[in-house]
Amino acid sequence: MEIEVKKLNALKRYSGDFNFEYEPSEDACLIPLCKIAGNVSVSGSYEIYDDDSVGVILTVAYKLEGQCSYCLKNAEKQIVYTSDLIFVRNENEDDYYYDGIKIDLKTAVDDAILISQPNVLLCKDGCEGVDVANNKKEV
Ligand SMILES: [Zn+2]
Repeated sequence: MEIEVKKLNALKRYSGDFNFEYEPSEDACLIPLCKIAGNVSVSGSYEIYDDDSVGVILTVAYKLEGQCSYCLKNAEKQIVYTSDLIFVRNENEDDYYYDGIKIDLKTAVDDAILISQPNVLLCKDGCEGVDVANNKKEV
């Protein structure tokens, strides 16, 4: 999951695509009782600019599965999220830093996985939760 900027510059391949599978860390999912099922598919494109900054459009796709945050029934959701990033050689707060030689996409991919997660995983839109479901059964 690296973009070898210096090498690509030498080859005059100033833009291109990438596509790989990424195995997320165990704690990549922040939603209680849920996990990321399988690998995260990462795809995107890069463009190397004249000043050596590199624009990267990155899409992560993965499946969340676990228990509904409201009613604890089984739940799953497919997530697809695209971020538009820039990697620069001088460190600043807004952009990603790289050393001018190659870009390691790991941090950006981990960030995209975190940013793209919903706060809760629901079994269906508008799940009303376990209490309401139980009350309805009793009526
Ligand atoms: Zn539910």
